[in-house]
Amino acid sequence: MLREIEQEVAYTRSMTGRQSLDDRVMAAMEAVPRHQFVPVGARAQAYYNGPLSIGHGQTISQPYIVALMTDLLETAADDVVLEVGTGSGYQAAVLSRLVRQVYSLEIVEALSERAADVLARLGYSNVECRAGDGYHGWPEHAPFDGILVTAATPVIPPPLVAQLKPGGRLVAPVGQPYSSQELTVLEKLAGGKTTVRDILAVVFVPLTGEVERR
Ligand code: SAH
Repeated sequence: MLREIEQEVAYTRSMTGRQSLDDRVMAAMEAVPRHQFVPVGARAQAYYNGPLSIGHGQTISQPYIVALMTDLLETAADDVVLEVGTGSGYQAAVLSRLVRQVYSLEIVEALSERAADVLARLGYSNVECRAGDGYHGWPEHAPFDGILVTAATPVIPPPLVAQLKPGGRLVAPVGQPYSSQELTVLEKLAGGKTTVRDILAVVFVPLTGEVERR
């Protein structure tokens, strides 16, 4: 799986500007047992570089995309990070090896509970999961050093930008659902101003809830 990620990083380097990913990100990808986060019937495919169904119409993202998004977040060991879209809990587990604390929101309650169980069983004690609409972020634990949105959104939810620390980064697939989106990096500068940069065309399941009513 790591070799496939490296190949895809090389293949997309003209778009992403990345020759290789951070060694710490690759080490986290190597350490997290992906087969524990996929349905039992899909375990044989767990270490291929592809997305897999996790039920409730949702997917665990392709490992290359998990690695790339984690890399783009440019985390530090003391960071507190928010994830929107817990899904299987796999991305949260990868993040948890790189930062101090991960908070992860998932709108489908059954998925949130299952991910929390798997993460607890595997000893990822610095991840807290909650069922809820990630559009609103998690104000009690804000501000965050980094925010990762793992579902496609037509606009970056303003509450998430508000909950980002100055100097922090938010990574999200931005665009219409059921088409391809642009993996986008938003940076909040020291004065609070934001800059955005498009990295790569990607396809994610849609962010549901509040954003659909906007
Ligand atoms: N990060 C996940 C994959 C995410 S798939 C993993 O590592 O497995 C996208 C997830 O976002 C789905 O589980 C979907 O239910 C969830 N989602 C969609 N809209 C949401 C919202 N408004 N708030 C929180 N989660 C949401």
